[in-house]
Amino acid sequence: MLQQTRLQVALPYWQRWMAALPALEALAAAREHDVLLLWQGLGYYSRARRLQQGARQLQALAEHNEARTADPWPRTLEGWLALPGIGRSTAGSILSSAFDLPFAILDGNVKRVLARLVASPRPPARELKGFWQLSESLLDPRRPREFNQALMDLGATVCTPRNPSCGACPWQRHCAAYAAGDPTAFPVKEAPRELPYQVIGVGVVLNGAGEVLIDQRLNEGLLGGLWEFPGGKQEPGEAIEATIARELREELAIEAGVGEQLIVVDHAYSHKRLRFMVHLCTWLSGEPRPLAAQQVRWVRPEQLGDFPFPAANARIIAALHERLGLEASAADAAAALPHPEESRPAA
Ligand code: SF4
Repeated sequence: MLQQTRLQVALPYWQRWMAALPALEALAAAREHDVLLLWQGLGYYSRARRLQQGARQLQALAEHNEARTADPWPRTLEGWLALPGIGRSTAGSILSSAFDLPFAILDGNVKRVLARLVASPRPPARELKGFWQLSESLLDPRRPREFNQALMDLGATVCTPRNPSCGACPWQRHCAAYAAGDPTAFPVKEAPRELPYQVIGVGVVLNGAGEVLIDQRLNEGLLGGLWEFPGGKQEPGEAIEATIARELREELAIEAGVGEQLIVVDHAYSHKRLRFMVHLCTWLSGEPRPLAAQQVRWVRPEQLGDFPFPAANARIIAALHERLGLEASAADAAAALPHPEESRPAA
């Protein structure tokens, strides 16, 4: 949860998660649908799926362990790296913090501290091998747990991104960036790149029974497996109403009347910026078919909170509930939670 996400933001999600899935067995046995619901709003949903895959893998290994004496947790780097979504730094962090084993770490905070310590002239991402060697050479093999914890704490509380407290830093005498007089010039950054921008037309389609149409995305990409309101990219020169009608035809094989605007939602992901133009629509004809999704469903608007949606869609649900005069739901509450990846304001 803490990958790409600040502790204060992740904490309420973690507490909810641990209350629902307090042990490896519970996570391994949970329905993926429920796991995604617990993750709803944190972004990068593949992390939740991989956590569950990892739990199932560990449990299967433990069940095949004939001795049945060992606990299911690996004690080697390879053992952790074999699990989906676990990289070298996460593996090193688990091995040192859980078992006090001498494995180095290299998360964002540590990269910043090390880049300053040696005044590295290149961005850390271009010098990973050297940074790993540095982290390993500094590690105290007698006290790896305390050392790595101290290194992370130094980055989080002293050697902070904007105003490092060099006067309180135990490494000040050895720090090349401090000696150079400008610690915040490090780590050297990559040249910024312009994020692509797209407008997405979204249809909230209602039928005569007052039900709303949702579809489940294919199991791939950042938001794979989540539910959403149908829609797609606006073509150059196309009116947004025409985009929505076309997408509904192409993706669900239905005809719908595109009505008034419900809400506009701006979203900035790490790799692109999106504007969702959401309109209320009336279903006219055609049985909805999942031509570009796993499945489609008509549901009552008050049931929408039972499905895991990306953050942008949670805000659409809140707007729909408000328009229909429905009470605030769990999805509305999710829309109000901070969404680290999904609701960064578009720059
Ligand atoms: S002296 Fe300053 S820049 Fe250098 S490691 Fe310490 S806090 Fe960071």
